[in-house]
Amino acid sequence: IWKELVDDYRQILTTPSFNAWIEQAKPINLIDGQLTIEVPSTLHKEYWEKNLATKIVETGFKLTGSEVTPIFIVQNEKLTEDRLLDNTSNLDPVISQLTKENSKKALLNPKYTFDTFVIGKGNQMAHAAALVVAEDPGSTYNPLFFYGGVGLGKTHLMHAIAHQMLLNNPNAKVKYVSSETFANDFINSIQNRTSENFRQEYRNVDLLLVDDIQFFAEKEGTQEEFFHTFNSLYNDGKQIVLTSDRLPNEIPKLQERLISRFAWGLSVDITPPDLETRIAILRKKADAERLEIPDDTLSYIAGQIDSNIRELEGALVRVQAFATMHSQDITTSLAADSLKTLKPVGQANQLSILTIQEEVCNYYHIQLKDLKGKKRVKSIVVPRQIAMYLSREMTDNSLPKIGAEFGGKDHTTVIHSHEKIQQLLEHDPTIQKEVSEIKNLLIS
Ligand code: ADP
Ligand code: MG
Repeated sequence: IWKELVDDYRQILTTPSFNAWIEQAKPINLIDGQLTIEVPSTLHKEYWEKNLATKIVETGFKLTGSEVTPIFIVQNEKLTEDRLLDNTSNLDPVISQLTKENSKKALLNPKYTFDTFVIGKGNQMAHAAALVVAEDPGSTYNPLFFYGGVGLGKTHLMHAIAHQMLLNNPNAKVKYVSSETFANDFINSIQNRTSENFRQEYRNVDLLLVDDIQFFAEKEGTQEEFFHTFNSLYNDGKQIVLTSDRLPNEIPKLQERLISRFAWGLSVDITPPDLETRIAILRKKADAERLEIPDDTLSYIAGQIDSNIRELEGALVRVQAFATMHSQDITTSLAADSLKTLKPVGQANQLSILTIQEEVCNYYHIQLKDLKGKKRVKSIVVPRQIAMYLSREMTDNSLPKIGAEFGGKDHTTVIHSHEKIQQLLEHDPTIQKEVSEIKNLLIS
């Protein structure tokens, strides 16, 4: 029955909707006519109950001949798997052309769409809310307010709403501005006595997106004008979407009346992506750019940059540029070389040699004193060489220092071990697998 349902929903929903609601839900069981479905957040639950549940009853009856009642449970912390969106929308070329032109007019970044947005734990709720608003502007969450740190996808989601709305209705009037542009337009309109134009421009839209409204802080006149813009749009049932790096009540000198208006809608935070999401984002980027990058290299890069998606993308660009410059394939050691200088020195999450040694010992079930010792049996020698290899690859320690940490060995031993493992990595699948597993343990 779940498979049937999924097929039905695929037919009736747009691709982004399907990805947001159906892909993220998981059937648990069907007992006594009760179909239990697990969804990632309360927002998902409400949406299912309101919009999607009737279909279950219908299809359930069709297939089983008796009544099927859906029950939704909200998943606790554990997220199944981050899923990639696929880009398979078949659009009418005329509509698609019109949509493109209107997107351009609204100064939207063509890359910031739902298709290119990777859903993960930190942004799942924001993504779902964005989609509700795009499909049904002005009537659900108004205003929709995204807050969170830099480079986490607030602007991206905002543009995605606009793109999607234009896809659904190419004639929709959409306006995207930063809060600074809003402020400048307002000030210019006073100086040039063009207030009427200003109002026309901002109040005569179906969707107004104002980015980074923390910059409204301290701007009294601008806040005043925005208050009126807001009211006018809101009363006309037009959708407003706002972003900020923090909650409205944490923005200094933001007027109380604005804060309370923002609370009429929905505020959702976006938190930094977990490792899986970061890998999925890199994979999606790499595929889009047709870059061939091994999985363990993507994991490595994702492990190096853990908070900001813009920096994550920057790292990928850097690695790619480095590979081109040296005419080499992208590998983990190349990535490590090209990202080396990126790291601030003395960063707290720098790996230590000891951490690597302990992880290797754990992995092979051997003693730390043996790893650092002089035994020449293979079951010790290979892990020792791997630990030295990783210490060279994943830390900034010098060769003599690494040697010293391995029970006072000479730096030539470290070089030899490093070369040995590098050779094995080229053709020995067991070593490849083991090294990449240890690496993953180290960076997660
Ligand atoms: P913010 O506005 O929160 O500072 P942006 O929306 O500008 O962040 O995102 C920074 C970069 O990261 C953009 O290039 C954007 O496309 C990318 N990005 C952010 N979140 C995602 C995501 N979930 N999937 C894919 N790319 C993302
Ligand atoms: Mg932004």
